[in-house]
Amino acid sequence: MRMSKTQNLTGHASKIQIREREQRLGQRGVTVWFTGLSASGKSTIAGALERRLFDDGHLVYWLDGDNVRTGLNADLGFSAEDRTENIRRIAAAARLFNDAGLLVIAAFISPSSVDRVNACKVIGDDRFHEVYLDAPLEVCEARDPKGLYRKARQGIIPEFTGVSAPYEAPVAPALRLNTATKSINECVEALISLLTDAGALAP
Ligand code: ADP
Repeated sequence: MRMSKTQNLTGHASKIQIREREQRLGQRGVTVWFTGLSASGKSTIAGALERRLFDDGHLVYWLDGDNVRTGLNADLGFSAEDRTENIRRIAAAARLFNDAGLLVIAAFISPSSVDRVNACKVIGDDRFHEVYLDAPLEVCEARDPKGLYRKARQGIIPEFTGVSAPYEAPVAPALRLNTATKSINECVEALISLLTDAGALAP
C-alpha cells in the first residue's frame, strides 16, 4: 500500500461525529463494492440500485469508470500497477464519501483479489460489502454491449480482463449475483436486502 510522502501532517478532527451524520441522513455510510467481468452487469445494476435508493430517500453516489477515469484517475492506464493504483484511489474516495455519511456503489471490474482486500482495509471491514456480479464469460462476451470483447479477441485491446488478463473471483463475497439467471429487479431486491440486513438503511 502507498505511504504518504508528506511528513509533518497535523490532523484536524471534525467536530461532527459520524453518529450525528447518520442521524441526519437516516442511513449509514457504507460501500457496496461490485466486482465482475466486463458486461457482467455492474453498471446496469449499479444504476438501477442507485435510482432505487435515491427514490427511497437515501443519499447515494455511484462511482464507476466514467466518473473516475476521466477525472481523479485520468493519468492511469490498464497496466497491473495502474489498475492497483486505480483501485487504491477509488477506495480512498469511497472512504471519504462514507465518512460524509453517503452510501457508495463502487462498480469496477477490480480483477485483483489483493486489490479488493486492500480496498476493504481502507474503507473498513464493517463498511465494505463485496458483491460478485457472476455472469459466465460466454454470456458477457455474447452481450458485449460496447464491442470490447470483439476488439480484445482481435488484439486491438491488450490486457483485457477474462480474455488476455486474469480475473480473480471473490472467494466469500457478501453477495453473489448471477445476472445470466437473475433479472435486474431481482438483483436490486437482493442488494436492498443486503443493505437492510447490514443496518445501512437506518441511522
Ligand atoms: P459492466 O458494467 O459489468 O461492464 P454493463 O452493465 O455495462 O456491464 O453491461 C451489461 C449488459 O447486459 C447490458 O447491456 C445489460 O442490458 C445486459 N443485461 C441483460 N440482463 C441483465 C441482468 N440481469 N443484469 C444486468 N445486466 C443485464
